[in-house]
Amino acid sequence: MTKGYHDRNPVEIATRDEEFEAFFRKAAFEDRQRRDDEYAEAKRKEGVDPEKRDKLRVSEVGYAVGESACSRRFFYEFHGAPRDPMTMEQLVNLGVSSLAGFWVANILARAGRVHKVEVKMDFEPFPISGRLDVLCDPETHRVIEVKAVTTEQFGYLPKQEHFDQPTLYVWAVRRAAAMGQLEPEFLKYTPSVFYVARNARKGQPTHAAYAVPYSEKHALEVLQEMTRVRNIANGDVLPDRPKGFSRSDFPCSYCSMKQHCWSAQENLGLALQQSVEATQKA
Ligand code: SF4
Repeated sequence: MTKGYHDRNPVEIATRDEEFEAFFRKAAFEDRQRRDDEYAEAKRKEGVDPEKRDKLRVSEVGYAVGESACSRRFFYEFHGAPRDPMTMEQLVNLGVSSLAGFWVANILARAGRVHKVEVKMDFEPFPISGRLDVLCDPETHRVIEVKAVTTEQFGYLPKQEHFDQPTLYVWAVRRAAAMGQLEPEFLKYTPSVFYVARNARKGQPTHAAYAVPYSEKHALEVLQEMTRVRNIANGDVLPDRPKGFSRSDFPCSYCSMKQHCWSAQENLGLALQQSVEATQKA
C-alpha cells in the first residue's frame, strides 16, 4: 500500500471533515434562502405579491393531472399553508438536476443547435406559467425537456407527465408562431423528452430520448384540467384527499405539504367536515 508523503497511508488516517460538511450544509440552505428571497424581490418589482399564487406551473402538471394528481396540495399552496422544511437530499437532487439541464444545453449550444434556453412561455388565457428548458434551432425544431433520473428509474420511463410538459410548451410555441410572434418555422416544432442518468455505472443506461407525438387536442385537455385544479386551489373549500392516498406512499410521501396535510389538526378538520356532510345527508 502506498504511503505517499505521509509515514502512514493517508486514506487510513483520514477522518471525515465534519467542519466543512457542516459549513457546506449551512451554506447550501442559506443559498436556497437567498434564491427564494431574490425570486420574491423580483416578483415584488413586477408588482406581484410573492406570497400569493394564482397560477399553476407547467412543471407541476404531474401533480395536477393523472393518477398522482392532488388538488388539495395546490389548495394548501395557494392559501399559504406551511411547506415541509426542505431536506438536504432535496437540495442535492435539485442542484444535480438543474446542472444536468445546463450540461445538455451547453453541449447542444456548442453544436450550434440551441435557439434559446429557459424561455418564459405565455399560456394566456389559461392560468398557467412555465419556462421551457431548451428550444432547439429551426433545423432541429424540437422543444426539449431534460430530466435527470437515476438508473433505477429507467425501467419505469417514459412517463406521461414528462411528455405533457414539452407538449404544453410546443402548444405555446406553435400558438406564438400562428399569431406572428415567432417565425412560421416554429409551427413545425415538436416535443421531446431527454432523460439523463445521474448515477450510471459501467454498462448501465446513460441517456434516452423520446419523440413525443404532438396532439393539440391533448394539450388543450391538459390545460383545461390544470385550469380546473387551479380554480379549486383558488376557492374556499379544502378538497378531500384523493381516495387511496396514504401518508407513507407516493405521492404523499414526496409531497411538500405532507406534514401539514396529515397533521392531527387537519385530520380533525376533515373528520368534522365529513360528519357535517353525513348529518346534512341524513
Ligand atoms: S400529502 Fe398527499 S393528500 Fe396531502 S396534499 Fe400532499 S399529495 Fe395531497
